[in-house]
Amino acid sequence: MNLATLMACATCGYSLTHHHDGDQVVYRHPVSEDGRHQPVPVAADLIGDVYDRCHICSGPRPVWNYHTAELEAQGIGGRREIIQTYNTRWHVCARCAQYFEADDPAGLTAASAAHMGWHPTSPRYAILSMVHRAIVLTREGRTLLTTTDWPPATLTPDMLPKIRDRLTGLLRGPAGLPDPLNALETRRVLAEHLDRAPLYWINHEFTDLINEVTRDQPPAPVTDRITPSPSGLVVWAHPTGTRGRIAAVSWTPHPGGWHLLGYRSIGAGLDADLMPTLRRDIGWLIPVHTDHIPRTTSISGSHPLGPLITTWLLMNQQMTDTTPATLPKATRNTYHRSQRPAPDVRLVRIKPPSTTPAGDPPTPTGGRTRSTPDHRYWVSGHERNQAYGPGRSLRKKIEVEPFLKGPDDKPIKLSTTVRVLGRRNPEPPTGDTPQ
Ligand SMILES: [Zn+2]
Ligand SMILES: [Zn+2]
Repeated sequence: MNLATLMACATCGYSLTHHHDGDQVVYRHPVSEDGRHQPVPVAADLIGDVYDRCHICSGPRPVWNYHTAELEAQGIGGRREIIQTYNTRWHVCARCAQYFEADDPAGLTAASAAHMGWHPTSPRYAILSMVHRAIVLTREGRTLLTTTDWPPATLTPDMLPKIRDRLTGLLRGPAGLPDPLNALETRRVLAEHLDRAPLYWINHEFTDLINEVTRDQPPAPVTDRITPSPSGLVVWAHPTGTRGRIAAVSWTPHPGGWHLLGYRSIGAGLDADLMPTLRRDIGWLIPVHTDHIPRTTSISGSHPLGPLITTWLLMNQQMTDTTPATLPKATRNTYHRSQRPAPDVRLVRIKPPSTTPAGDPPTPTGGRTRSTPDHRYWVSGHERNQAYGPGRSLRKKIEVEPFLKGPDDKPIKLSTTVRVLGRRNPEPPTGDTPQ
């Protein structure tokens, strides 16, 4: 389930707030519906220029969704009485949220008015001040917004323990999360597994390969055979996924299968003075896709979390090697002081070329000779009979997961075309490679 789908009004292009009223999801325009048309909610991707900004200061990239009771402002003294009814959901940027958390509505008003060039003696200032006071002082909590488009943050393997600890902090913390993740038990179980999970860092070269080949990855059943550990967090050196926004995916055991959770990274493009609070309250990762995957479900590369399955498959076919990271002494000391085992960070890279190929995956050609392909391509998953026993006289059926075939004694050529066997018109794996 996608958690990053922003809903906007097809009529006016404003992003909409939503809340649940019983089983119904109610969409509303930001700030106030007064004098506006009925919202026409559609996925923001379907309309061009969507206005998705802080409801307080109009600044970019709202971070939090604050909840309030329904507020009404009454204008008295004019020719007629004006009653303005406000929304109960407020999308708020990191800058404005600082005033919320400091219970400082006056500071919030001063900053917003300065932004808009309003003078403190103007009547508008007085109204703004009253509304801000009501919002800040009567707020009932806040939920992390997972719909905001963030430029990716720069992540490094040294950061993995902290990235994980901030994520578990977010899961255990007071901030609300999108509905499918918000149940206390879900949050607790996730955090407990992540506390102990190995942390996998996929280096740049391997991430490039993942980006290149995920789209064409044939369906692969998700089983204990291809998961490198019962739970884990994979972080790629740069974002992956069809929309280039997945920075990391975690998997944790779930009855009958796994809970997969994809994240985007947050923080680039924010003023430096806001970073410490953001890193403390949220960290680096924001959930954008959640799925419960029953064991043996087949997942192809077109799945939103396809890059994880592709990463598992390539690790599983031993195309990569995984080494424990040497963490900075400060990190180890921090864990030691809090009596936690040292974090288990594993660096995953493509194996360097070897002159003695060993452990090659089984070939699907049944021993037929074929000239060596000059590129790599996916071979679909299949069953095959394997000889075993005395004189190799016995046969047993074994499952072969999809694997990437091609010479592994050469550097990876990313311009290489990847072809899938089993397509209707498969091109031969030899011949001219389109450039
Ligand atoms: Zn509208
Ligand atoms: Zn703001």
